[in-house]
Amino acid sequence: MMKTAIVIGAGIGGLSTALRLHKQGFKVKVFEKNDYAGGKLHAIHQEGYRFDLGPSLFTMPHLVEELFNLFPNSSVSFSYKTKQTACHYFWEDGTVFKASTDNQKFVKTAASTFSENKNTIATYLHNSRKKYQLTKSLFLEKSLHKVATYLSMDTLKALVNAPFLGISNTLDEENQVFENPKLTQLFNRYATYNGSSPYQTPGIMSMIPHLELGLGTYYPNGGMHRISQSLFELAQEVGIEFRFRESVTQINHHKKKVTAVTTEIDTYKTDLVVSNMDIYPTYKKLIRDVIAPEKTLEQERSSSALIFYWGIDSSFPDLELHNILFSEDYAAEFEHIFQHKTLSEDPTVYINITSKESPEDAPKGHENWFVMINAPGDYGQDWEQLVAQSKERIVAKIKKCLHVDITDYIKTEYILTPQGIESNTSSYRGALYGAASNNKFAAFLRHPNFNNKIKNLYHVGGSVHPGGGIPLCLLSAQITSDLILKTAL
Ligand code: FAD
Repeated sequence: MMKTAIVIGAGIGGLSTALRLHKQGFKVKVFEKNDYAGGKLHAIHQEGYRFDLGPSLFTMPHLVEELFNLFPNSSVSFSYKTKQTACHYFWEDGTVFKASTDNQKFVKTAASTFSENKNTIATYLHNSRKKYQLTKSLFLEKSLHKVATYLSMDTLKALVNAPFLGISNTLDEENQVFENPKLTQLFNRYATYNGSSPYQTPGIMSMIPHLELGLGTYYPNGGMHRISQSLFELAQEVGIEFRFRESVTQINHHKKKVTAVTTEIDTYKTDLVVSNMDIYPTYKKLIRDVIAPEKTLEQERSSSALIFYWGIDSSFPDLELHNILFSEDYAAEFEHIFQHKTLSEDPTVYINITSKESPEDAPKGHENWFVMINAPGDYGQDWEQLVAQSKERIVAKIKKCLHVDITDYIKTEYILTPQGIESNTSSYRGALYGAASNNKFAAFLRHPNFNNKIKNLYHVGGSVHPGGGIPLCLLSAQITSDLILKTAL
């Protein structure tokens, strides 16, 4: 008889695992507490504007294509375009820099904008690529905890200490190679791609620029939401069953083996369960009868975000799809977020405008602004007050960098706080990327993709190995389904 698998959660991790397990011959059922698929990869429409609610940067599109390649007869389409400019950077003193994804152009323009030595920049980008290539198969494409069984944890940790990888330095220390502090700040920003602080995360994170500037940055036609929507459509087409508005309340097990899941409505027997729910509530709510790995669960969480979705009654030709208005004191900003769990008076402001790529996302002559600042997780702060303060600070920052009072142009507004992110997706403290990487052993501390207390229970998504962000969630599904193929049942 056909083996059954239940996936808890239809985030990008759950959707991609469901597709892979279906391909392996499982009868797959997905339970989702919301009435939509996609989790953080969701969108809203408001007064003629469309806003992607979560991720805005799309890298490594081949990981999405791989899923479509599993089902070559599918009628569902997913397409994307390549971006020439990765990001447009602005500082208060008038410095502007368009980061090209053509490395030679990047080196040339950065050298002249920041009066920096060309070789220093070229060597940095070269080393970024080398670090990525040296570590990706070990840290991103395999189950680290299974690798440890044949390589030994000590060997792995010794590797981690290899000087070239820069794991004993912080990213900020690694980025002191630049004379111009603006270039250090620009490369420090990559720590935020996994919700960490550049002043704490290890120097190995200097491989992240390669993902964007080397492997390229892309825009899905129709917006980021097309990633989760097209995978959902594909899953429906191949016959995966979805049960929306049905929250799982317990994972049942007997003699240390999964037997069923209980939802708000019923109990469903199954041979295998994959939880795409954040690992913290998975232990605290769904398997309360199992001794939880507290050290893993208590790891510092990644940063969260405060986002204003503004319908703007004007257009700004100087802005790109991705724009950054940098704070004057980056170290203070991260100290506010990670040490004081609050927001800086002078935040770095990220503005994403998809109507630059998809004009239908805003009325003619208007733009849809996704305006985000990095924020601490929800620790019970007064978010109402922080939202009001931040709006003023963001407006002031835009005035200083872009010389416009944006309040005159805001026609519609929607706001998402860390609390909102947690209540939408069950992400503990509203973290964007699960645990932070503010520790050189974070990769080893992240929960594995299998459960060593309950057989046939697996974990997938941004809060477990190899980490958060769309590409890593897709890799997580790949690692998990490979493990299931080798070890389950
Ligand atoms: P989620 O998307 O959180 O999905 C989990 C799903 O499980 C949810 O649908 C939830 O409702 C469901 N669920 C939870 N508990 C239950 C239960 N008990 N029963 C049933 N269902 C349940 N990544 C990038 O690559 N690029 C970016 O630019 C980027 N920017 C981001 C900006 C923001 C504002 C946010 C929020 C995230 C961003 N990320 C970005 C991170 C990225 O969105 C996440 O890493 C990724 O989407 C997480 O996917 P997931 O499958 O692990 O979890």
